[in-house]
Amino acid sequence: MRTTVDFAIVGGSVAGSSMARILSSLGLTVAIVDKGLFPRRKACGEGISAKGVKILQEIGFRPVLNRLPHTRLRGYQLQLKDKKISIPSSLIGVQRFYLDKALLDCALSSPRVLPFLGTAAAKIDGSGPFQVTLSDNTVIESRWLAVASGARPLTVSGTAINPRFGVSSIWECEQDTGNMPFIQIFAGQNYQVFLTPVGPHTFNAALLSTKNSGHALTNKSASVELMGEAFARAGIQAQAASYLVGKTCLQAQSARAFHNNIFMLGDACEQFDPVGGMGMTHALLSSRILGEEMRLLIDGRMTLAQTGVKYTAKREAAARPLRGFTFTSYLALVRAQEQLARIPSLYRTAGTFLSGGLGSTHTVRNRMAHTALSFIGACL
Ligand SMILES: Cc1cc2nc3c(=O)[nH]c(=O)nc-3n(C[C@H](O)[C@H](O)[C@H](O)COP(=O)(O)OP(=O)(O)OC[C@H]3O[C@@H](n4cnc5c(N)ncnc54)[C@H](O)[C@@H]3O)c2cc1C
Repeated sequence: MRTTVDFAIVGGSVAGSSMARILSSLGLTVAIVDKGLFPRRKACGEGISAKGVKILQEIGFRPVLNRLPHTRLRGYQLQLKDKKISIPSSLIGVQRFYLDKALLDCALSSPRVLPFLGTAAAKIDGSGPFQVTLSDNTVIESRWLAVASGARPLTVSGTAINPRFGVSSIWECEQDTGNMPFIQIFAGQNYQVFLTPVGPHTFNAALLSTKNSGHALTNKSASVELMGEAFARAGIQAQAASYLVGKTCLQAQSARAFHNNIFMLGDACEQFDPVGGMGMTHALLSSRILGEEMRLLIDGRMTLAQTGVKYTAKREAAARPLRGFTFTSYLALVRAQEQLARIPSLYRTAGTFLSGGLGSTHTVRNRMAHTALSFIGACL
């Protein structure tokens, strides 16, 4: 079978569906390919930052979100040993099992978007126009192409600079999760556990480990035990309700946003340390930025090469504050806590301004606090 469209997208998750929705609203015909069948589980902490929620709304996904079971969270709570930091923000928790299918269905509600699901993109030929050959031998011909196929797989022995591995699962608890925060527990250098309320009595627990301790994640009972410890530290009594999803590699490695005339979106372009739930936000951001540039390309006001250059620059600028909020910058934030506590209202209004101010000084400590504050500015 052979199909011709204006734009083909490989990957139908958060980045792919949002891109398809934007492009169809610009009048383009779109093919969206995903090797999976939805709904499906995806290893994730399932928290979406306030910024991510805003972009979902702008793309037209807000009614979809409202219909899904989700939780409004009080903000972020970061815990290290006996220290806790609260950062107010209006993020939400929602299970990817529901979210990803709902976003894809919404994109597919346009007659201009054609689904190719349960079949992988096996081969890409050309550099515009493109020919995408699927594993069932279907061929999609398109003028433009985006790859939104998520992070590239990497084994425990891979060579990424700072790889982490993640698993997640759903837990149930007696307590009402209303008005709870997105809790991130730094259980030492090697483990982080995120507890995200995703329903009235439901939590997502995501466990991340560094490369050296990756073996703990291959052992299901060890992972569940570490998640259970995190609930105990947070003072929440919860029981594991679902199997573990993962193990997924998180790598501090990025691909070029535009190469061989192909646009790269979401994790396929860059994967963030999921501290603070920035992954989905970045996926949505990259689609929105490309959508803006595609308008000019369609109108003939820019060439494909110019569109690629502008997309690359704008995506880079948007991604920069999301990088580097790591264990180290978290420690800097703990140190800066006292000063920040005196000016809580500035969290919301001036996170970016503050980070700019601190960024102009040269001490290492301020540079780390700068990273942390840029991150906060980007989240709110
Ligand atoms: C443990 C863990 C916790 C996380 N916690 C959070 C969090 O709390 N908040 C947050 O925002 N982010 C979090 N993230 C990151 C988040 O999951 C990703 O950033 C986000 O899913 C990226 O979306 P995407 O659309 O780019 O890629 P993905 O969601 O990975 O989707 C890629 C899609 O492409 C499809 N695909 C792949 N290859 C092919 C192919 N050859 N042909 C066809 N289809 C293909 C896949 O089936 C998949 O559906 C976490 C990640 C992990 C691992």
